[in-house]
Amino acid sequence: MKFPESLENLIKHFQLYPGIGPKTAERLALFTISKLSKESVNSFSKALIEAIEKIKHCDKCGSITDKDICDICNDQDRKEKLMVVENSKDIIAFEKTNAFHGKYHVLNGMISPLNGVGPDDININALFTRVKEENIKELIIALPSTIPGEMTCTYIQKMLENSGVLIYRIGYGLPVGADIEYADEITLIKALEGIKKL
Ligand SMILES: [Zn+2]
Repeated sequence: MKFPESLENLIKHFQLYPGIGPKTAERLALFTISKLSKESVNSFSKALIEAIEKIKHCDKCGSITDKDICDICNDQDRKEKLMVVENSKDIIAFEKTNAFHGKYHVLNGMISPLNGVGPDDININALFTRVKEENIKELIIALPSTIPGEMTCTYIQKMLENSGVLIYRIGYGLPVGADIEYADEITLIKALEGIKKL
């Protein structure tokens, strides 16, 4: 038996999400039509459209924001220290620790030739411009200890070789290959305390 066309269509849309297979998509779609009120579905669809229309990447750091320049980049009290992270979720994790008071730079990816991702495919060139323009003295690389993480770290080091910027790598206490976004606050604070100079 096939579901009515509109329901099949809804199932197909749920499958756009990572980790949602046909069975889960079907469950979500059936839940939507049988348990959710018209109002909830209406506000859900409005939220989807509003988010996609309003959210963009900060012109400076690459983090997600609903402004041209995000609040952290606009914060005049954050100076000279810049932490390089893979994605915006990592910023939220570090901000929760309250242990870092610098700015961030979000790469939105990592260099990975195996997957066809080179420096021009991620937000890395803007990093070198920022280091110069914002008079950055210390750079803390908070990328995972995976092959792409190591390659990206090496590339940054090479590009800033004679810049005089002190480059640190975070990692102590973080399991190899661990995602920063899933690390708990204590682990992140320990990792921040254990930065080592490259
Ligand atoms: Zn920003």
